[in-house]
Amino acid sequence: MATWTTSSRSCTPDKGGDAITLSIDTLLWNDDSGYKITVHGGKPGGDSAMTQAGGNLYEYDSSDAKEEAITMAHEFGHAMLHASDEYANAAVPGRVLTNDHSIMANYYAQGKGAATFKVRHFQHLVAEVAKQYPGYKLKIEAM
Ligand SMILES: [Zn+2]
Repeated sequence: MATWTTSSRSCTPDKGGDAITLSIDTLLWNDDSGYKITVHGGKPGGDSAMTQAGGNLYEYDSSDAKEEAITMAHEFGHAMLHASDEYANAAVPGRVLTNDHSIMANYYAQGKGAATFKVRHFQHLVAEVAKQYPGYKLKIEAM
């Protein structure tokens, strides 16, 4: 089990009062009923990917080169945040494309060093937290 502190949330009351700031931890645990990720060590390598049914992570990519940490982070963006890819794919014509150094976009073209998760990747968490704070508007902010 591990905790992962994500971004802070600013809660502003709808009718007067003081704003409050929340820091939310995401709890990860190994649960056989949850999303299954199969980790493949050694060679031959493969193409890491996450699908609705589960995911595969490879230590080495399909060219047998050591998989990059940024790709692992990208794949965990799918698995943990349910974030979608943000790069062009002819097979997915409706995909939202971004050019703001998102780790879910084409970080090879936009620059791996600048790639980060964005506030939008955490919006679904804010929606869940908002249910616990009726009368407040919640806004997520980068830390
Ligand atoms: Zn992806």
